[in-house]
Parts: sequence; C-alpha cells; structure tokens
Amino acid sequence: MGDQNRSGAASGGDHDEHDDELDFIAPAKGSAEEMLEALTGDPLDPMRHSAAHVMAEAVMDLFPGTKLGIGPAIESGFYYDFELERPLTPEDLGRVEQRMAASVAADHAFVRHTLEPDQGRAYFQENGQPYKVEILDDLRIAADTAGQPAPEVSTYEHGPFVDLCRGPHVESTGAIGPFKLLSVAGAYWRGDNDRPMLQRIYGTVWATQEDLDRYLWRRQEAKKRDHRRLGLQLDLFSFHDVSPGSAFWHPKGWRLYRTLEGAIRELQERRGYQEISTPLLVHQKLWEQSGHWDLYSENMFKLDSEGQTYSLKPMNCPESTFIYRSRTRSYRDLPLRLAEYGELHRNELSGVLSGLTRVRHFVTDDAHIFVRSDQIGSEIEGLLAEVTEAYGWFGLTPRLTFGTRPDKALGDPAVWEHAESLMREALERSGVDYRVKEKDGAFYAPKIDIQIEDALGREWQTATIQVDLVMLPERFDLTYVDEAGEQQRPVAIHRAIYGSLERFIGVLTEHFAGAFPFWCAPVQAVVVPIADRHNDAGTELATVLRSRGLRVEVDDSSNRMQNKIRLAQEQKVPYMLVLGDREIEARTAAPRTRAGEQQAPQDWEALAERLQAEAEARRPD
Ligand SMILES: [Zn+2]
Ligand SMILES: [Zn+2]
Repeated sequence: MGDQNRSGAASGGDHDEHDDELDFIAPAKGSAEEMLEALTGDPLDPMRHSAAHVMAEAVMDLFPGTKLGIGPAIESGFYYDFELERPLTPEDLGRVEQRMAASVAADHAFVRHTLEPDQGRAYFQENGQPYKVEILDDLRIAADTAGQPAPEVSTYEHGPFVDLCRGPHVESTGAIGPFKLLSVAGAYWRGDNDRPMLQRIYGTVWATQEDLDRYLWRRQEAKKRDHRRLGLQLDLFSFHDVSPGSAFWHPKGWRLYRTLEGAIRELQERRGYQEISTPLLVHQKLWEQSGHWDLYSENMFKLDSEGQTYSLKPMNCPESTFIYRSRTRSYRDLPLRLAEYGELHRNELSGVLSGLTRVRHFVTDDAHIFVRSDQIGSEIEGLLAEVTEAYGWFGLTPRLTFGTRPDKALGDPAVWEHAESLMREALERSGVDYRVKEKDGAFYAPKIDIQIEDALGREWQTATIQVDLVMLPERFDLTYVDEAGEQQRPVAIHRAIYGSLERFIGVLTEHFAGAFPFWCAPVQAVVVPIADRHNDAGTELATVLRSRGLRVEVDDSSNRMQNKIRLAQEQKVPYMLVLGDREIEARTAAPRTRAGEQQAPQDWEALAERLQAEAEARRPD
C-alpha cells in the first residue's frame, strides 16, 4: 500500500512571486470551523500564528482598506490571505517586514476579548471585513441547525490591530522570534475556485536566528535540488497537463527506474519471492468485498463498460488473493511470497499534485506474503534484513516506526497482541533502531513504517510492512490445510521496500542532488574522444564496457574536450573516460570522476571488469 501522505520537496527563493514550496502547502480550509483553526500542533505555533497577526497589522497599515481572509500557523511558518487593490511585489514584502519589525519592537500585548454575537458581527461589518462576517454568519447558521444559541465572538487585539480569533497567542509581539517573509501566492477564498482569489503571503519565524538561518539555508538548498527541476535538467522525466500527476519517463529516467526495480527483483529472487501481475481494470464488486468501495471510492478512477462499473486499481492487495486461492494451499506452501510491480492510480486532487512525490499514477514494489501465524516472527526478521540491505545500496539508514493496535481495530485483540509480540521480538532480534507509536497501526494490521532522513535533514515516509490479520485473510476467506488436515487462516503481510518507485526516485534525486550512486546512475560513464579521429576508438571502448552491462555514452560531438567534460559533469555522470592518441595506442583509459579525481590509466578490459564489479556491489559512492 504505497504511502503518498507527505510532500516535502521545496522550491522558491527570496520573495518569489509564484512559490509553490511544499512545506507551505497548507490543508484546505473550507468550513467556518476549519477557518478558525490556527494551529498545527508544533510548540512554535502560538508564536507563528502571532506573527500572522502582526503581518496583517502591517499590511493593513500599508494598504488601508485591505480585506482580511485567514492567517494560521503552518509547518515552519505562517500565512495570511488578503484581498488587496493590486498584486504585491517583492518590494512590498520588504516594507511589510519593516512594519512588522516595528510592531515587534513596540512589544504590544495580545489581549483577548469576547463580544456578544451581534456586537461581534457589527464590529467586523463596520470595519469593512466581509470575509470575517461570512465566517461569523456560517458559525451562527451551524449553531442554529444544531439547535444551539449563536456563539460568542472572540477576538485578539494587539496595538492597533484586532482579529477574529480563538488563539492562543504569545504574551506580546516582543515574544516573536526572528522572521522572514518568503513569498506571495494566489489562494481562493475557502479553497473554492468560484470564490475570489486572495493574495497569500507566506512567512517563517523561529525561536533563534540560528534556527531561522538553518531553515533558510535548507530552503535554498532544497530549491537547487528540486527533483522537478533536476528531472528536466538531467533529462529523466517530465510532466504534461494531458495527464496530471503522471510522469512521462525519458530514456535516462527509465533506465534509472528499471535499474532500481531490477535491484529489488534480484533481491526478491534470492529471497524466494515469485512475481505476479494482475489486471489494472477491476470490477466494483472486488472493492466492495475488500471494503475499499465504502472507504476509498472517491480516490478511485471509475469506468463503465456494458453497464458494469470498474475502477483502475488503487492498490494490488485484493487481487493477489485470486492467485492465492487458485489452488488448495498446504502448510508446506507457506510462506508464499507474491511480489508485484502493480501500476496504481489514485484520484488525488489536481491541486495537490506535485512532481513525483504527489502523483496519480505510480508503481510500488509491492508484495503480499502469506504465512502461518507461527511464521510471522521469522518472516518479519527476513523483511527487516531486506529493508536494511536495500537502503544500504544508497547509504541510507531507515528509521522504523512500529504502530500498534488502534482503538477501532478489526479482529480479536488476543490475536493482535500475539502478532505484535512476534513483531516486537523480530525487531529486537534484528538489532534495528525503531520507535513505537502506540495505536498507530492500520485498522486491520499492526505495521512497521519505514522513513528516511535525506541530506537536508528532511524526513520522508517511504514504505511499510503490515501484518494483516483480517482484511485479506477473512474478507477473502483465505485458508490453508495444516498438518492435521484442518483448514486454517493464514496471515497476509503487505510489504513494500521503496514504496512508490516514483516517490522514491523523487526523494533520491533530491537527496543526491542528481548525482546518483554509480550502480544506479542512468549514464555510468561518458567516453570523451579528444578529436574526431578518436571517435571510432571511443565507440569501441563503449562496446567493451556495454558488454559488461554498463550504461555508457560516447560524446562524439564536435565540442572541445573541456566542454565535453563540463557537460558530463553537469549531467552528474560518475566517470569520464578521455581518449587521445596515447590512450588509443595503449588501449587504456584514465577515468576522471565527477568529483574531479583523476584515476590511473587502466587497460580497457581491466577497466570494464572493475566497473562491472563496482556496479554489482551496489554501494553508495
Ligand atoms: Zn489569532
Ligand atoms: Zn497490500
């Protein structure tokens, strides 16, 4: 079950006009209640939300008559939505920052007031704030519908500024730490594209200057590493509006993709998996049986044919059971490990799609492993070893989170407890680092989530291992025959290692800033003939290397050697092999690495052999 729950790539620089930095994608706020939610759960929230008030004060001061939307704290910062006479410019943000600094210096106290419902509405009406009035009217309608009295109106006042707000705030504006305004973006009022588009100013604020500086550095670095930008620059993939949220893979990107897929396939072969493939288009009744139709159908793409409703599969899980049930299974057949690179579609809103990390179409390195309950421990141990090995190929140390039984779990608590204790023992035996998140399991399965921290210290959820006690086993009536000839229920383990290949490639691209480890680099070496007369020998060397399975290109363009090297470096190709008269005479090549290291000349065959061994070792550089 590919996890698509977190976005993380960032872009945008100082005061960019259209900054779509993903840190800053805030949850859509539609209802009046949601619009009054100003916090995210971070301890810095009250300060961040207070900074939003101070920013609104500054904007009102600079642009009298501004109509105010909402201004919550969000991850790493805050925003406020404004209706203004004209579009804001980067210079405007500088002026807003200055006014904010003055308000912070003045150290105005934040004071809470409550008003009678009519009095509150009249206040915002008189002050020309129709959006605030709309929120209050909606709250009143909701109260009426629920048969409750109209709610009191609470406001916070600091210095000259009063806002409709439930708080909490810091004591006074002086408690607001170092801040910076980042960008302006358009945002529809209540996330509704039939309503006016307001201007949203994003800002960030931290407890210390050091924290702010680190955040701004990371943001800048993230912009340079943005996988959408690198994807184009390195000719890996592109996106086109004819198929939102679905990557078009270019030859180099597809090589990378297939190499990563191949590495997992090789690992799976070693571990006794069998690969399957199941249909993309599946009848509604399957999803009704699995429970997805009730819970998930709005995220599924549906199609009608001959009066029947089908959907593109959003996950592979239920279909694997058809293969399980295609014959009688005995206890000797288990564990049965069925792997599938299933093509999945999920109908994510087009507004939240982003590069490879939020997509509609993706493939997971999925597997469903059917085991006897006494095999749970050893299987989990094996899976943890797979995860450790695979992440080691990239020099990444996965962080594991063990999620236990949630309150609304399906199935017998005793069975859950048993499964959880086996998983816990396996985690302990494996010696991996993990933390426990109580009640964070899926409703049908305790689970182990896999996260990684990238080079910028950002945490990404990649994949998951779930020990399914009920969903597949019971809803699809899976059985096996035990030693005594009795029918028993197996346990189904859902596991992915990379998770979504698309998302994983997006994360890797940013982590390595496009300089992928040698073993998976789309182009592993470029042969650089110094002059035209060296081109034939260049092709010959490429053939020697390719026969060892290496991905090699020859730059036989008319560019000068220095340009060829610069180009290869920009493309982050691990090795450049320069060929001139001397090298061709001796049938040698001296590799130059993308880091600029010049290695000793080597005979072509010996070089090919060495690079092949390096690639097969799958080590991070
Ligand atoms: Zn407030
Ligand atoms: Zn599954």
